[in-house]
Amino acid sequence: MVHPRVLSAMAKPLIGHLDPAFIELMNDTARLLRQTFLTENRLTLPISATGSAGMEACLVNLLEPGDTAIVGVNGVFGTRMTDIVERCGARPVAVEAPWGRIIETEAIAKALRSHPGTKLVAIVHAETSTGVLQPVEELGRIVRDAGALLVVDSVTSLGGHPLRVDDWLIDAAYSGTQKCLSCPPGLSPVTFGPRAVEVLHARRTKPQSWYLDLTMIEKYWGDERVYHHTAPISMNYALLEALRLVHEEGLEARWARHQRHHNALKAGLAAIGLSLASQEGHQLWTLNSVAIPAGVDDLAVRQALLADFNLEIGGGLGPLKGKVWRIGLMGESSTVANVLLVLHALETVLPRCGHAVRGGAALEGAGRAFAAAAGATG
Ligand SMILES: *Cc1c(COP(=O)(O)O)cnc(C)c1O
Repeated sequence: MVHPRVLSAMAKPLIGHLDPAFIELMNDTARLLRQTFLTENRLTLPISATGSAGMEACLVNLLEPGDTAIVGVNGVFGTRMTDIVERCGARPVAVEAPWGRIIETEAIAKALRSHPGTKLVAIVHAETSTGVLQPVEELGRIVRDAGALLVVDSVTSLGGHPLRVDDWLIDAAYSGTQKCLSCPPGLSPVTFGPRAVEVLHARRTKPQSWYLDLTMIEKYWGDERVYHHTAPISMNYALLEALRLVHEEGLEARWARHQRHHNALKAGLAAIGLSLASQEGHQLWTLNSVAIPAGVDDLAVRQALLADFNLEIGGGLGPLKGKVWRIGLMGESSTVANVLLVLHALETVLPRCGHAVRGGAALEGAGRAFAAAAGATG
């Protein structure tokens, strides 16, 4: 869901992409993005396309033909990164883990030792296809000591989970507007630290993408204000308003809200015999991957939720197809009401689909978790 203030921002009259008022909006957006990524990085801006363009922007700008990139692969988005690395003419070294589990920090360290001269390590912080939260904060020092850059996909963590770009020694990160920032899809915030900017400026070859070449885009977003492409004006209105909402709530409060609602959902699911499919201790608050009980028809349940409750949950992807449901609780959608609605809907639909439950059990389970959270905060 998107906050009404974001929707109204998109209906405001258009101005030019070099209008002084738009330039002021760009400055405000960059400042709020830095405060969201928790970075001082000067080169912080929204790429004019969806999250995958942010992924591509990081990789095409930092990799040159012949470079080696270590990529963590435990879901859809790590797999996508290896594809882009190959298209850059670079060599991907995939460090794999089963879908639903984290990539062990030691496995990355080992790959760095066996591939000296690696240009970068790319890893997904919040793997939306599996519901796993990767402990990226452990990687920064190891990657830096090996002389490589750390690139982090924060599409489903920015604004939902703690992410500290500077403290965690992340050299480049990208995100998307439509996940925890609760904005329509269309922009991809990116941030490049000083070491990444140095690599960008020391390239021997031009990045293979003209549109995503940050050496040119930074001249539009930086002090020079040189036309590169026409910024999607209304989308930028939306992003600025969404970022204002993030900071009116406060980052820490927003993270805590996502955690609280995840805990309540998990408790409610447990009360009707459903468990999360992602690794215990590394579960996302923003995307809850639920193991489908044996004998229950995946599609029948999802269709009933949509038809009877106007509620859409995701199916599993790749090897998890038919095995998990993915329940998003991101940004504006991470509410008490949505937690209770999905639990009530599952309680109603599951008995018809072959999984007996005691009516009301899920709501009681969630209620106890909410009460415990309220007690804990006084
Ligand atoms: C959604 C997502 C992307 C891709 O973003 P698009 O906006 O669909 O291009 C990349 N990485 C992760 C982890 C995502 O969840």
